[in-house]
Amino acid sequence: MEIFHISAECYPVAKVGGLADVVGALPKYQSKAGHLSRVVIPGYDTKFKKENTFTNVHSGSVKLGNFNFSYTILKEAADNLGYELYLVEIPELFDRPEVYGYDDDIERFLSFQIATLDWIIERETIPTIINCHDHHTGLIPFMMSNCYKYEKLRNTASMITIHNGLYQGQFGFDKMHYLPEFDLAHANLLEWDNCINSLAVGVKCAWKVSTVSPNYLNEINLSANGLESLFNMVRDKSIGILNGIDTEVWDPAHDKMLEKNYSVADYEIGKKLNKEILCELFKLVATKPLFCFIGRLLAEKGGDLLPQASALALSENYKEINILILGSGNSEIENQLNSLSLDYKGNYNTFIGYNEELAHLIYAGADFLLMPSRVEPCGLNQMYSLRYGTVPIVRRTGGLQDTVIDYGDGGNGICHDQASVGDICYSIQRAISLYNDKAHLKNVIKIGMETDHSWERVCQEYIEVYNSII
Ligand code: ADP
Repeated sequence: MEIFHISAECYPVAKVGGLADVVGALPKYQSKAGHLSRVVIPGYDTKFKKENTFTNVHSGSVKLGNFNFSYTILKEAADNLGYELYLVEIPELFDRPEVYGYDDDIERFLSFQIATLDWIIERETIPTIINCHDHHTGLIPFMMSNCYKYEKLRNTASMITIHNGLYQGQFGFDKMHYLPEFDLAHANLLEWDNCINSLAVGVKCAWKVSTVSPNYLNEINLSANGLESLFNMVRDKSIGILNGIDTEVWDPAHDKMLEKNYSVADYEIGKKLNKEILCELFKLVATKPLFCFIGRLLAEKGGDLLPQASALALSENYKEINILILGSGNSEIENQLNSLSLDYKGNYNTFIGYNEELAHLIYAGADFLLMPSRVEPCGLNQMYSLRYGTVPIVRRTGGLQDTVIDYGDGGNGICHDQASVGDICYSIQRAISLYNDKAHLKNVIKIGMETDHSWERVCQEYIEVYNSII
């Protein structure tokens, strides 16, 4: 089967969050399973692009109303990632360091989608399936079935995978003329709440809709930033597939970013050495339980609860625990978290920013990982922490509910129900009790480390879904 994954992110080329990890891994395992899996993302100005060799496979231009953008399709020459990677170079729009957050994001991702389809129809073969990811590629299923120039793709199956339904890529109908010509009788397919909503368009027009966990599929029928009724309407063509993790990249036995590699057989010594380095780096006390958070500092992740929860947990248990936060996002949350460093010096620290290597070291060196998320479509952090022998403390929501079971029920982590300071602190208290009950802790860690979240298994589920629609 020839599969095209079209996305805004792909690890290790351009990463903001979990979308990159999934798009960087799933195609590798699809290729290993014998399929021709390709990834197409915009050609941002990233380290990966500078350090790898690319060949020019196609060029053209995209007309967006009065604007004209030249584009080039570059293929990573050596297939180093285990699948064919293509970058859509549009220098005026993507030759910038960040993936998102520019005033012209609508123009950027619309040009990217049009250039990608323009190129695909010029190729000798027509793909079996086009798998779009999130709203940045949500207009593709509409264009495939409605724009005159993509007539060739009418019978090509399309699927949209929703990694996060909160972000929807809305824009006004004043920009509708950016789209290649189509029968205006179908313009209603673009509309949701009086504007063009890229995610809603993808959900309406794709042959199949998938979410990144089964529980998130249930949740978006109740709460999806205004798209609930749409998700209800398309329930029959929707499926929740739990993400996997790339067990080659995330492997404590071979991870080059760790101080000491380890496996389930010798995790105690391995984790101890990684924790010592981490505590030395952040001036914490390695003999105390270490609670960490990694992620975007936003309300969605419960980031706003962290300053108060940390202060309370540290004052109640002062000197009994360490807390280390790695993340960036809302500047008010960042400032509040930073200001705690003075009050709880020696037991608390932060790294405000993005640091892939540090994230790996934290998964290995921490004892507990905090995930107090309000919304978590799948969540990868808890799966990485399980694999690295770190006990996740999660709010029961989305994919966290699908992957973490409370140790009181014989499971692999600690769970609470409310996104509240009280619930987080109560879970921290339970974690301290578990930490002091070494035999029980060992059992919980072993269950977590032995859980199979590999893509090998999950990749097959994607193939079965593709087969059901082609
Ligand atoms: P998201 O909603 O952000 O996509 P996920 O749990 O699906 O959440 O994936 C988050 C990914 O981003 C993980 O690989 C995590 O390690 C990584 N990550 C998030 N924030 C940071 C950071 N500040 N530094 C390094 N890695 C980070």
